[in-house]
Amino acid sequence: MSIAAPVSIASTPAPLQDVEQHLRDQVAACTLMLNDLEIMGYSGHVSARLPEGRGFLIQSVDQSRASLRPELLLICDMDGYLVSGPAGLRPPSEVFLHSEIFRVRPDVNSIAHFHHDRTASFTLADGPQLVPVKNHAVRWANGIPVHPNPNHVNSPERGRALATTLGASHAALIRAHGQVIVAESVPGVLIDSVHFVENAEAMYDACMLGRVLPLSAEEIASFSKDIKREKHINKLWTYYVGRAQSLGLLPQTWNLQPKLSTAA
Ligand SMILES: [Zn+2]
Repeated sequence: MSIAAPVSIASTPAPLQDVEQHLRDQVAACTLMLNDLEIMGYSGHVSARLPEGRGFLIQSVDQSRASLRPELLLICDMDGYLVSGPAGLRPPSEVFLHSEIFRVRPDVNSIAHFHHDRTASFTLADGPQLVPVKNHAVRWANGIPVHPNPNHVNSPERGRALATTLGASHAALIRAHGQVIVAESVPGVLIDSVHFVENAEAMYDACMLGRVLPLSAEEIASFSKDIKREKHINKLWTYYVGRAQSLGLLPQTWNLQPKLSTAA
């Protein structure tokens, strides 16, 4: 008598169109949430790498960050040029910030670029450099480089220069301009953007009180050991999605699981 083989339900890769739709829902939701949290504002963008070298998703130049929808996202190739999207829409001028980072950072699957004023203030004064001061800022223990060129990253050359400044770091400041956050997923980029701004605001406040005490190497090592990144991302993504849904910001019909489930 033979025993039936167990049915595998978790190892089948999701169809590409399901992956793309899930990323579309996540990018649109992430943009709306960053806008609602007053991190994104009237300009900036979130992108997500598509599988199998199919380029990346990014919003169009003119679409409001307060009303983005998944079907309005464009697909661009790794040279930053439009592949597909609704008629009449074109990529943002800073699309090359995304394409050139994706090109040289295979570990990065999502990028957020925004122009948060309090965070940018650390590039405007001959004062303290932005460093990790709050516990979750251990994410940037290997440095927060400052890109010296405040111009829009609106050419491949400027994109490559920014990617060089970023190096292996998980975030960079662009002097007198804005911020760049890179992560392994769209939920990761949302949570990192929240913590990056929290850290900058906390350090700004601490500067008002006295000499800033950045996290020490020992504190960074100890907290880094404690934190379970994937679990933390899932917890905060679930919180922010729930908050946005309760405010009526996100439709219940969008697939906003942190990871796409492939179980039938
Ligand atoms: Zn910008």
